[in-house]
Amino acid sequence: MMGMEARLQATFDQAQHIVFLTGAGVSTPSGIPDYRSKNGLYTGHRNAEYYLSHSCLVQEPEVFYDYVKQNLYYPDAKPNVIHEKQAALTRQNRATVITQNIDNLYNVADTQHLVEFHGNLYNVYCQICGAKADWHDYLKSPYHDADGGWLRPDVVLYDEGLNTTNVQRAVAAMSQADLVVIVGTSMRVYPFAGLLDYRNQQAQVVVVNQEKLNLGFTYDMVQADATEFFDALRV
Ligand SMILES: [Zn+2]
Repeated sequence: MMGMEARLQATFDQAQHIVFLTGAGVSTPSGIPDYRSKNGLYTGHRNAEYYLSHSCLVQEPEVFYDYVKQNLYYPDAKPNVIHEKQAALTRQNRATVITQNIDNLYNVADTQHLVEFHGNLYNVYCQICGAKADWHDYLKSPYHDADGGWLRPDVVLYDEGLNTTNVQRAVAAMSQADLVVIVGTSMRVYPFAGLLDYRNQQAQVVVVNQEKLNLGFTYDMVQADATEFFDALRV
């Protein structure tokens, strides 16, 4: 990309309530692969959706634990310029980030108004007593020392319901937004994709992505590498 278009820079400069809707593509430049595109670890008909399901957690807790531990945790990953520019806008009280990512990188980047729609891998708790546990301990053993209960990360599994507080916060932010920016997600996974139905009808929608999206309404397409786009954006 040849620098930032003045028109787009002005859109960001003038916005008072930006909502960033983000997904895996924001974290791939930090070295975290999109688990849905990872294959080959296990053979057969099973896929990431099975391993990350409540059924798997309950019926085959060892299998769930091994999958999560081997595929999802990247504790050494660092936020990139996409996280950092968005976080800076939240610290100016001009933006909210609603992310599908569970990798904690927005917290590391000091994001102030953040909805982790699918939870956070680094918040771990015991399924028996509910006590919080340190994720370092979870990566060593899936059992809670105190009572032998299985630990689990506080993330929304495929057949689990969303945290209602998160949904309410996300809907409220969408209804107030004057600018909605979609980054690193194809907006095909529901219920996250359904957040667009709650957008303020006055809001301009900008998509920063390598491929166009099928949203069912008109939007501004920035067909670019998100890293280059946010690198060029002045905040
Ligand atoms: Zn316990």
